[in-house]
Amino acid sequence: MKALAVAALALASVAALAADYPGDKPVTFIVPFTAGGPTDKVARDLAEAMRKPLGGTIIIENVGGAGGTLGAGKAAKAAPDGHTLLLHHIGMATAPALYRNLAYKPLEDFEFIGMINEVPMTLIGKPSLPANNYAELAKWIDANKGKINLANAGLGAASHLCGLLFQSTIKVDMTTVPYKGTAPAMNDLLGGQVDLMCDQTTNTTSQIESGKVKAFAVTTSKRVSTPALAKLPTLDEMGLKGFNVSIWHGLYAPKGTPKAVIDKVNAALKVALKDADFVKREEALGAVIISDNRVDGAEHKKFVEHEIAKWTPVIKAAGQYAD
Ligand code: ASP
Repeated sequence: MKALAVAALALASVAALAADYPGDKPVTFIVPFTAGGPTDKVARDLAEAMRKPLGGTIIIENVGGAGGTLGAGKAAKAAPDGHTLLLHHIGMATAPALYRNLAYKPLEDFEFIGMINEVPMTLIGKPSLPANNYAELAKWIDANKGKINLANAGLGAASHLCGLLFQSTIKVDMTTVPYKGTAPAMNDLLGGQVDLMCDQTTNTTSQIESGKVKAFAVTTSKRVSTPALAKLPTLDEMGLKGFNVSIWHGLYAPKGTPKAVIDKVNAALKVALKDADFVKREEALGAVIISDNRVDGAEHKKFVEHEIAKWTPVIKAAGQYAD
C-alpha cells in the first residue's frame, strides 16, 4: 500500500514538474565546445528562437575539451528535470569508437529530443600558405610532408573526423593540434601558428568571404551554393573520390527526463526550426535545417545509430583511439 502511495506521489510530482516546465528556472544548453565556435553559434541562435515557444529563459554553458566528451559527460550526469540539455553534434556518433573509457553511452544515457541541422565543412589554410587552390595545396603538402600542422577541436570533434579522413585519403600524416573548440583554433590559423583546418561552414564562411583564410574545398559530395562558398570545388572533384563529410547537430536530455518535458522541448524546437530569422541565419552560413521526421527524438536516434555504424569502421581503420 505504502509503495503504491509513494509511486503515485512520484508520478504526481513528475506531472506537476512537466505542467510547470520550464517555470522560473532557466534551461541550460550545455555546448561541449568553446564560445564563438560553430556549435556555440547554432546553440545561441537556436536558444534565441526557442525562448518564446518554450516560455522560459535559455542560457548557454560552454564546456569545451576532449572533443566534446567532457561537456557531454557533464550533461549525462545532470538532473533529469529538463533544466540541463545538451546541444551536440556528430561527436555523439564518433566518440564511442574513439574513446576506450568514455564516461557515458550516447544511446543509453540520453533522451533524444530532435535533430537541428546538417552542416558542410571546408578545408582552409593559414593566410600565408603559398597555395591558392587545391592543386597548389596538394603540391605544397607533398613538398612539406612531416612538417604540416592540422588544427582540430580534439578527438571526436567534427574537425578531427574530417582531418582524419583527409589524412588517410591522401596518405599523409600531419601533426594534429587539439583545441577546446574551433573558435580558438581559428584564431591560431589566422595568426599562422597552425597550417590547415577542416571546419564547419558556419565558422568559416565569414573568414572566407573576407579573404582572411585560404579556402581550398568543401568536404561534401556536392558543392555548397551559398555565395561565399559556391566557387569552392568538392574534395571529390579534386580527386579524393567518395570524400563526403557533412556533420549535424541535435538536442538531448539526461536519461530519465520526463516524456512530457521532452515533448515540450521538442515542440519548441519544431517552432524554432521554422523561425524565419533562425532559418535565414543558418542558411546564409551553408547549414541545412532539418525538415524531415528526424526532428523527432525517435527518428533522430535511429539516424545516430546509423551514423555510429557508418563511422565506427572508418575510425577504426584509421587506427585512432584515446583513453
Ligand atoms: N563543433 C566544434 C566547435 O564548436 C568544432 C568541431 O567539432 O570541430 O568548436
